[in-house]
Amino acid sequence: MSLASLRRAAPARPGPAPASGREPARRERSRIERALLKKVGKAVADFDMIAAGDRVMVCVSGGKDSYALLDALRILQRRAPIAFELVAVNVDQGWPGYDTAVIAEHLAATGVPYHMIDRDFASVVEANLAPGATPCSLCSRLRRGVLYNLAVELGCHKIALGHHADDLIETLLLNLLYSGKIASMPARLVSDDGRNTVIRPLAYVPESLLIEYRDQRAYPVVRCGCPSCGLPEQKRQVVKRLLTSLEADDPGIKHHMLAALGNVKPSQLLDRALAAGGAGRTPSHGELSTPDTSHPHAPSSPAAVAGGGEVS
Ligand code: SF4
Repeated sequence: MSLASLRRAAPARPGPAPASGREPARRERSRIERALLKKVGKAVADFDMIAAGDRVMVCVSGGKDSYALLDALRILQRRAPIAFELVAVNVDQGWPGYDTAVIAEHLAATGVPYHMIDRDFASVVEANLAPGATPCSLCSRLRRGVLYNLAVELGCHKIALGHHADDLIETLLLNLLYSGKIASMPARLVSDDGRNTVIRPLAYVPESLLIEYRDQRAYPVVRCGCPSCGLPEQKRQVVKRLLTSLEADDPGIKHHMLAALGNVKPSQLLDRALAAGGAGRTPSHGELSTPDTSHPHAPSSPAAVAGGGEVS
């Protein structure tokens, strides 16, 4: 049995509102939380992300996305007709100024078992980076290796990342504009060696909703100390601005782009492998590795995504 049944499970509905001055605020949080849970529940069900007995490693960076991811999974865990475990993990990559004590305090308050991991990616990146090269690709590979091995060590069947709908469509556009490929981030992906399954339960959640939820919950957001994070010249930031501008002129564009990811017409592309009938082929290792650019530290965007220098 999997969490696909969540779609059919009756969502908890708020009871009659007691008369209270705090009630409007509570109702507002409830509205935002319901919207979040509905989208997370649908993604989990659509992609069969969680099964009975799963132990899910939730990567928490200290950003709004991963905090919301953990909370959404905690609520689903309580409501789900199946039992599964959550384990939170934070990886300090060694960038100066990254305040993990705040994150640890938050995680301790949730009651979810958690692990704080220390690594020194910063030194490795600085020592190995060619002049002028973007650090994000190497950094992402290092992070992926740590997370994949950690999941195995902790006995976790799934690795949950906090990428949201805006990350997916930005990645689609980045690949389209700068990499010459049509690709985004998979909602669920099993690694080639079968050891790890990466899931993205926020795949249907727009960033705007996560911002509202962050404000409601007053999350203790911790900024990534990486000096490359969020630089305006990064391609991801360029694409973010482009999408914001397009959305302002024509609201709904992001929604259409997300819909397009689930509405591919292989026969109307120029991919000869697809035309030859390989539409259902298993992603290659490269395809697997590139989207998993989770940037557990970036408060507002993950991975090389945040770095932007790495397109895929
Ligand atoms: S922006 Fe993110 S992915 Fe890029 S180097 Fe910094 S921490 Fe790594």
